[in-house]
Amino acid sequence: MTTTPTQAAAAYADLAAALRGDLITPGQPGYDAARAVYNAMIDKRPAAIARCHDVADVIACVRFGREHGVELAVRGGGHNAGGLGVWDDALVIDLSLLRSTTVSPANHTVRADAGCTWGDVDHATVAFGMATPSGFIASTGVAGLTLGGGIGYLSRRFGLTVDNLLAADVVLADGTFVTASEGSHNDLFWALRGGGGNFGVVTSFTFRCHDIGENGTIIGGPVLYDFADTPEVMRWYRELLPVLPEELSGWIGLITIPPAPPFPEVLWGRKSCAIVWCYTGPLDGADQVLEPVKTFGSPLVVGLHAMPFTALQSAFDPLYPAGLQWYWRADFFNEISDAAIGVHVKHGEEMPAGHSTMHLYPIDGAASRVPEDATAFAYRDGGWAGVIVGVDPDPANAGLISRWARDYWQDLHPTSAGGAYVNFLMNEGQDRVKAAYRGNYDRLAEVKRRYDRDNVFHINQNIQPAR
Ligand SMILES: Cc1cc2nc3c(=O)[nH]c(=O)nc-3n(C[C@H](O)[C@H](O)[C@H](O)COP(=O)(O)OP(=O)(O)OC[C@H]3O[C@@H](n4cnc5c(N)ncnc54)[C@H](O)[C@@H]3O)c2cc1C
Repeated sequence: MTTTPTQAAAAYADLAAALRGDLITPGQPGYDAARAVYNAMIDKRPAAIARCHDVADVIACVRFGREHGVELAVRGGGHNAGGLGVWDDALVIDLSLLRSTTVSPANHTVRADAGCTWGDVDHATVAFGMATPSGFIASTGVAGLTLGGGIGYLSRRFGLTVDNLLAADVVLADGTFVTASEGSHNDLFWALRGGGGNFGVVTSFTFRCHDIGENGTIIGGPVLYDFADTPEVMRWYRELLPVLPEELSGWIGLITIPPAPPFPEVLWGRKSCAIVWCYTGPLDGADQVLEPVKTFGSPLVVGLHAMPFTALQSAFDPLYPAGLQWYWRADFFNEISDAAIGVHVKHGEEMPAGHSTMHLYPIDGAASRVPEDATAFAYRDGGWAGVIVGVDPDPANAGLISRWARDYWQDLHPTSAGGAYVNFLMNEGQDRVKAAYRGNYDRLAEVKRRYDRDNVFHINQNIQPAR
């Protein structure tokens, strides 16, 4: 803002009066709570946080930003590890109060406001025996996850989250409002499906839903192996996954077994190679499909049970509450090569105790049948989206977990497909953003020029407007 502090205060007072929601500025009660995001390593001090009550509030904020030259940050679920939902001296358009959902069982759709978490959406749809593909944890925001692509338990069977997006309501950089879909603002709709928050503020999403399991009951849970078995388990898993029916998906990772039930106390704190499975087909066919995953090797725990899909989706939420220190690094992988397995073993042995982990999420089946240029999400041949996650409750360990993740990534990167899932990037610079979009980057830059030529929405993995 290029005005005096008094003029700025007066402008923010006018904005506060124009909004239905609260405008929280530094020094006001609730400021510190409102600027906090999921990753406690992020400590940004925005000029103001607008807790929007409706689309009109969002429009007022976008217009205010333009008029006063104030940077705009947009916060959905606040889960972004790089902390891109808040920013120093920015006006934060906080959507977290916009959390309603509307399910149409007849049309197999759900409409979700942009402040919803996936827990909100699953709660709404699983009551009707349906779900739309999302992620692997319930507390993540619908908005950020969807705009980056969305990789989850249902991706093998039904595609990425963006492959099930039917429409999005968007406030554009000039404050106008449009609905983007295949039939309307088709270029914008293409870019929203993976291009992140670059093109406007999405205020609601409409998704296609699918029947899952039996009335929403699926079979899921972890199978844990001794860490020493990692090479054998990874080699078996990379061969098995492509031939499994798409009703069954499973991500593989390295973990420290949490010191809590349902894990047997004797295993608490032990390192493990884990696969978390999710079977969403008919329950009477489950035994046959799950047989190979139950019988391979010498598992420490076979924790597969029938449960509502919501229970699997939220299983990790208590282990990873908001307020921990997070630092992660990521890449896509076409294969889990022998060289990569060697790196996983080496750095898995050095994995800091507690919450830190490494996950490889499949991008195959239905997700890989979508052509690379059909949406902005470019890695349709990825095989897996990998992420090395340093997590710790204690700020004193922030350096330790960050170093571990960086060193691990340095050694693993040569085995990767080149770029990373945009939602797993930290603030890693323009080359890494370009690598995330590969051949789709130039088209994204062109759509950016059309919808946001002044780069109003730049607090994100930024796509620069084409010249
Ligand atoms: C614990 C954890 C688990 C995760 N698991 C998965 C997973 O299983 N699958 C997966 O695909 N990803 C996963 N992610 C990554 C996740 O998709 C990203 O962190 C995503 O950015 C989170 O979205 P959000 O709305 O919560 O984030 P925010 O921090 O609120 O926003 C993230 C980015 O999106 C922009 N944005 C947010 N809302 C809007 C909006 N309405 N309009 C325009 N731009 C907006 C923001 O400006 C920011 O740039 C996980 C992240 C964490 C921390």
